[in-house]
This record gives sequence, structure tokens and C-alpha cells, in this order.
Amino acid sequence: MIKLALFAGDGIGTEVAGEAVNVLKFLFDSNSVRYEIEEDLVGGASYDEYKLPITEKALKLAKEADAVIFGAVGGPKWESLPIELRPEKALLTLRYDLDLYANLRPAKIYDELIDASPLKKDVVQGTDMMIVRELTGGIYFGQPRGVFDLEDGQKKGVNTLVYTTKEIERIAKIAFDIARKRRKKVLSVDKANVLECTELWRSVVAGVGKEYPDVELTNMYVDNCSMQLIRQPKSFDVIVTTNMFGDILSDESSMVAGSIGMLQSASLNGKKGMYEPIHGSAPDIAGQDKANPVAAILSVAMMLRYSFDMDELAEKIENAVEKVIKNGYRTADIYSNAQGTKLVGTKEMGNAVIDELKK
Ligand code: NAD
Repeated sequence: MIKLALFAGDGIGTEVAGEAVNVLKFLFDSNSVRYEIEEDLVGGASYDEYKLPITEKALKLAKEADAVIFGAVGGPKWESLPIELRPEKALLTLRYDLDLYANLRPAKIYDELIDASPLKKDVVQGTDMMIVRELTGGIYFGQPRGVFDLEDGQKKGVNTLVYTTKEIERIAKIAFDIARKRRKKVLSVDKANVLECTELWRSVVAGVGKEYPDVELTNMYVDNCSMQLIRQPKSFDVIVTTNMFGDILSDESSMVAGSIGMLQSASLNGKKGMYEPIHGSAPDIAGQDKANPVAAILSVAMMLRYSFDMDELAEKIENAVEKVIKNGYRTADIYSNAQGTKLVGTKEMGNAVIDELKK
């Protein structure tokens, strides 16, 4: 019996996670997979009910589940709350408490959506990369941190970049293992010319690389990488990098793929994982049936592959999404008025994927 926790969250999180779960339920039911899905509030919705972005009960549910499906959290209503009570704290707590140290973010361009990318066709065509971002360490968690008063009346803001050998080794192994199933190339991104911590990063990744002689390892500074992602995105296979660099580079890579609404992610600790679209709660389009549910639907496909080794079912979802795009279905974020395309809402897009699965 597969046990899933569902945290749809706020804004379009509830809309896109709803479509993803419909797709998953259809697939499980039609393939006689036994499962149970238990849902709870997180983010702003949890704050409104319990005055906390995530409760102990929700955390327990996440810990006991085999995998977590997450929508998105946040919104202007909760922006002025103290940082510890803001919706985004739920996400950081889940990542930290479940020790989800590896964040996988694929960025692939569908031929039919090349016009939705702001980059030129010959630059993006054929792009298919996987960013492996370290998720539970680095500057987002390092101590000391905070804003401190100085004796002269000024203030001092402090965050600390820290990585241990063990933290670097385990994320590097994930990157090399994934590369083995792809084009066998790992690029480690750092700022080793300026930051000692990432000098250690570079040398530990090189050490792990010796155990994978069949995989080519190269290094790049993050500033150069951000440039090359736009210049020649198709040259990348697997990129492994720190928490903050990965945060920024993966958003940049989403533009290569046309829309943030197309990109899914997995956050893993072994088989246990949390699966979510990379986008936020998009308050500007929430509640209007405009959000693209593809990222959320594809994140469920990642869950089948990485948590349950159900590669065949994952492929069914991926193929159905590809077919729906080929057949011209477009939510507003990927709509370009091209011949043979049809502007649809969140629900119609989700239903189109289920209709494809029925065939
Ligand atoms: P966002 O990702 O919510 O939206 C950025 C832009 O992309 C908006 O114009 C939005 O309409 C569009 N967009 C996003 N997802 C889309 C989709 N599926 N289909 C179509 N268009 C889509 O980022 P933001 O506006 O910076 O943040 C809004 C809120 O979400 C904030 O409170 C932020 O903190 C939060 N946030 C949450 C997460 C998360 O839960 N993982 C991630 C990022 C931001």
C-alpha cells in the first residue's frame, strides 16, 4: 500500500496539485495500484487555521508517508508576518525535517513550445538538462545568521556559507548516479576562486568523481554558468551545485523551457521524496483557472520514478503530457496564437492529460 501526504498549499498550489492528484488517481485506479492519500493544510492556509505555517500533525503525516505531493505556498496576505510564521517556512521546515538534501530540477524544451522560450530557436532546441541542487545546507541554513546591532548604532546582517565533506559527497553521488542514466556528463558549479567553502566543494566532488570513471566531470564558476545557460543551454547534461546557486540557476533554466509552469521538481532523501512544481502560488492568477498544471502533473511522474521505481507509469504521464502539447492544448503562459493551438484553463489541461491516458 502506497501512503501519500498531500499538501496543496495556497493560491494556484491548490489548483495545480488538484489536477496532478486527479491524474495520479486515474493512473493508480486503472493499474490496480493500492494507495491512500491523506491531505493537510500548509502555508498561509495553515496559518489562517492554526496560526502556524505547518503543524506538528502535518509534519507527522509527512514523516509517515512514503512520499509528499506539494503544491505551492505564499501570498500577499501573509507577507508582513514575522519570518518564522510566513507560509514559505512550511517548505523549509519540511525540507529540513525530512532531510531532503537533493533537489532535482529537470529543464527540457518541447519542440512545440520553442516559440514560448524567449531564446532563439536554434539556441534552445534540444535542451535537456537536470539541475541537482543541494537543499539542506549552505547559506540558507548556516549559523551564525541574523541582523545584529553594532555599538556605533549601525546594524550588521549576517548569513554563513557552510558545507561539510559528507554533505558534498552525498549530493555529488546523486548527481553522478543520475548522469549514468543520461548522457554521462556532470558539471559542478561553484565560486572556488573567491569562496573557500566552494573550494572544498570542488575538491570533494572531484574525489567522488573518481568512483565514476565512466562519467565526465567538469567545473565552472557560477557567474560563467549563468551566462552559458543562456548562450548554449543544450551543452548541459547534469549540473550539481550549492543551495543558493542552484536556486538561482534553476529559475534561469526555466526560461529556457518557456514557462515556469512547465517545470517539476523532486526533493529526495533516498527513496523518500517531496514532489512539487518549481513555481510559487502565483497570486496574480490564483482562482482564475489560468494556471498551467503541467509542472505539478510532471512532478507526480517524478514521484513514481524516484520513490516507487514505477518508471513505466511515469513514462505514461510524460508521454500523455507530450501528446497534449502536440495536440495544441495551451494554458495562457505557453500560448502563442500559433496555428492549431487552443487556449485552455487549468482544469481542461488536466482533463486532456487524463483523456490521453485513457487511450
Ligand atoms: P510565482 O512562481 O508564484 O509566480 C511568478 C510568475 O509566474 C507570475 O507571473 C505567475 O503568474 C507565473 N506563474 C507561476 N506559476 C505558473 C503556472 N503554473 N502557470 C502559469 N503561470 C505561472 O512567484 P512569485 O510571484 O515570486 O511568488 C508568489 C508567492 O509564491 C510568494 O509568496 C512566494 O514567496 C511564493 N513562492 C512559493 C514557492 C513554493 O511554494 N515552492 C516558490 C516560489 C515562490
